[in-house]
Amino acid sequence: MRSISGGSVNLGVIVCKHCGEMIDTVDTEKVVTFYSQCDHERCKQLSHRSQWTSDSDDRDLAVIKP
Ligand SMILES: [Zn+2]
Repeated sequence: MRSISGGSVNLGVIVCKHCGEMIDTVDTEKVVTFYSQCDHERCKQLSHRSQWTSDSDDRDLAVIKP
């Protein structure tokens, strides 16, 4: 661990659960990964479908927006 002097550090990241693209970063106190979906049409469709397919690993997590 290295100490960080000044400034805000975004330790939280929001990644697309479908393609793994990093969507955004959020200012959190510890390293957190949020799973959401990006704006790609393909991922939007996948998100719709995942509601009735078996995705045991995926949970709905809140997306924090500034
Ligand atoms: Zn995506």
